[in-house]
Amino acid sequence: MKAFQVKAPHDYQVTDIELPKVAAGEALVRVAFAGICGSDMHIIHGDNAFVRFPRITGHEFAGVVEAVGEGVADDVVVGDRVCIDPVISCGHCYPCRIGRPNVCSSLAVIGVHRDGGFEELVAVPAANVHQLPDHIGLDAAALVEPYTIAANVLDRMQPHPGDRLMILGAGVIGLTILQMALAKGIKEVIVTDVINERLAAAKQLGATQVFNSREQDVEKGVLALTQGEGVPLIADAACVPALLPQMLRLASPAGRIGLLGFSIQPSELVQLEVIKKELTLVGSRLNNRKFPEVLKLMASGQLDPLTLVSHRLPLSDMPSAIDMLDHRPEEARKVLIKIST
Ligand code: MN
Ligand code: ZN
Repeated sequence: MKAFQVKAPHDYQVTDIELPKVAAGEALVRVAFAGICGSDMHIIHGDNAFVRFPRITGHEFAGVVEAVGEGVADDVVVGDRVCIDPVISCGHCYPCRIGRPNVCSSLAVIGVHRDGGFEELVAVPAANVHQLPDHIGLDAAALVEPYTIAANVLDRMQPHPGDRLMILGAGVIGLTILQMALAKGIKEVIVTDVINERLAAAKQLGATQVFNSREQDVEKGVLALTQGEGVPLIADAACVPALLPQMLRLASPAGRIGLLGFSIQPSELVQLEVIKKELTLVGSRLNNRKFPEVLKLMASGQLDPLTLVSHRLPLSDMPSAIDMLDHRPEEARKVLIKIST
């Protein structure tokens, strides 16, 4: 069968591999659509310390169950339309015991630590499989995972009714946070970016205020908008370490800042800013069992996943999709790879 395999950093191809074996407790899924994520790009470029090569990447995918292994309960059967939570946790380490399996001490992520969705058939733990409501397409279902990132960071930031939210970055993750925030009842959302097309998309999806941080003085604008108080919720979907000092300045007293970046570059942090306003800085990694919540919001029409899709390409076009994301990222939003139907 065909698979997109990363043999080593910068060395990747669509190639023929053997069919995966289905172990006990696993389901074999025929992948319909898989989305390309920034973190796939990091693996391809050798910027992911966790990955072992060769690897078939892809952690955003949906498809149809083709077979099940021994001992799989009958809530997962052949023919089921499903999407897959990429988080595999041990269940008994400290974070697992306190209900934080997404930072399990021996975390395994489908598409990072084991093979993922950029192949025709993928074996996954049946426990990670989520059934799709009838009217959610397999294309939209490949976008459930990015929305779980949004649901997770918002959950970590503990919004209060009436809180204003600021999102740095209007790429795919920024736009999923925007939609998720509106769906959860946050009414005022400020979005910043450096690309006007992205800000227009944010506006169209319901952002109440947008700033081009290259053309406008964001700090002045946001402080004017909030009568100098600052913003209680700030989500960092720009993931530029140098922006942390500005986030600290723009947060209101008692504000919460949700960080999603994977950079190893240090950020400058002025302790006084944190202490005098008693700010809370939270990291958010992957998702903590957010698939059911996202599927429910998607099924009720409160999320609009297909607006995020800019390209649909066959698996054979993976190398050219990577080239586009590397060299002309402004042309793309979510790139969906159509693998089988
Ligand atoms: Mn992703
Ligand atoms: Zn664990």
